[in-house]
Amino acid sequence: MLGGEATSLDPEAGEDSPSGASLRGSHRLAAVETCERMWALRYYWYFRGNKDNEWRLGGSLIHTCYQYYYASLLPVKPPWYFEKTLQERLAEQSLAMPEPKRSELVKMALTNLHYYMQVYSTDREILRPLHIEEEFAATLGELDPGGPWPELDNDLVTCRPDLVYEIGPWIWILDYKSHGRSRVNPKTGRLTRWKEDGEYAINWQVLINLLILRKRLGPRVRGFVIQRTTRQEPYDFDRTPLTIPQIPYEEAARTARELVRHEYQVMSKIEQGERPSARYHACYGRFGPCDYRYACLSPDRETMQKRLNSEYNRANDAEVTRLKSRLRVVQ
Ligand code: SF4
Repeated sequence: MLGGEATSLDPEAGEDSPSGASLRGSHRLAAVETCERMWALRYYWYFRGNKDNEWRLGGSLIHTCYQYYYASLLPVKPPWYFEKTLQERLAEQSLAMPEPKRSELVKMALTNLHYYMQVYSTDREILRPLHIEEEFAATLGELDPGGPWPELDNDLVTCRPDLVYEIGPWIWILDYKSHGRSRVNPKTGRLTRWKEDGEYAINWQVLINLLILRKRLGPRVRGFVIQRTTRQEPYDFDRTPLTIPQIPYEEAARTARELVRHEYQVMSKIEQGERPSARYHACYGRFGPCDYRYACLSPDRETMQKRLNSEYNRANDAEVTRLKSRLRVVQ
């Protein structure tokens, strides 16, 4: 059994959970361009869908399993590792999913972990985990010195990599990606052949993670690794270090600055009583419907507000203020 073996060492030393969204990470920055309304609902008013869909929950449970595996290899384990066992954490995470799907998904994640630990058993000897789902941040002034709109220099961009590990002199960032039936080889059920020019050839999340981690941990950060797996049998795995494209890497910090500027433009719109713009081309994407589609499908604005209040969870005002206050470094 992984986790839950002792009491917490230091409650201040880490987050209370091995998962969670990054404060102003790549997803948030991309959201403001995708649909201002979606961005505002999620990151300005902090509405969160209170139902999880099956594919997303399956992926989250696999993430949690791997987090516990690598935390078990750390010499000083994070507090969340001791607070709950892996089984307790999975039960808590899947609570909103009705049975029998809940038990099926938990079993799937634990079976996946079983095979993962066999396939990557040598990780115990060759790889030294350093950080598991820890938040890193850098200011725009650090990432993009001398860029336009210097009033944004103290704004933070953040990332929360799944795993940061060391092998020999190098530090690597690793991210888990789990694939459902629609994204595997239909004949074999295994992962499709890795394509060097595929979806990770230019990847926003990868660029932001590398920029921030190199600022925080220095030039020993060698690169970014994608760890793929399947969310159903046959459990299949591969692990690929990415080739980082030079021009996108050099330009990504400026893009981040432009996106933060766009965030402030949307905030100012809202504060002047205007509505953030909707983008209906974004309501159904590669990973399914937008979380707010049910609200946007309302017959009128009153119903929309009622649906937001009843079908979504919202952070309380104190939490919203706390989250917003962390977006900038105060000098
Ligand atoms: S459903 Fe469409 S319009 Fe509504 S918030 Fe989502 S992406 Fe924007």
